[in-house]
Amino acid sequence: MQTLILLFTIFIVILLLIYIFFKSKQNRLFSLLSGTCPSCKETKKVFFDKTSNTHFTQEIIKPRVLKDYGCSGVKDVEFLCTSCGLKELYSINSQMGCGI
Ligand SMILES: [Zn+2]
Repeated sequence: MQTLILLFTIFIVILLLIYIFFKSKQNRLFSLLSGTCPSCKETKKVFFDKTSNTHFTQEIIKPRVLKDYGCSGVKDVEFLCTSCGLKELYSINSQMGCGI
């Protein structure tokens, strides 16, 4: 009986670790999609030009589509941080970032 409880506890811990792993990966993807680097926390810079009354945005994260399976499929997108050189590859659902 004791070994059964021990095995069950180990099983729960492994499930929890897998969940945390995927959750943190998803958080990184969301931060990359919103334009913030998850590694160096650098975000896009917005400049305001008073003479022409316009906003200039300088993106830190540069997404690059490697493979596109159409707007209803999955996309392989490489995110490159211009500040720290972080490079991460994600297969994202097109409904999440069809505009990229
Ligand atoms: Zn960075």
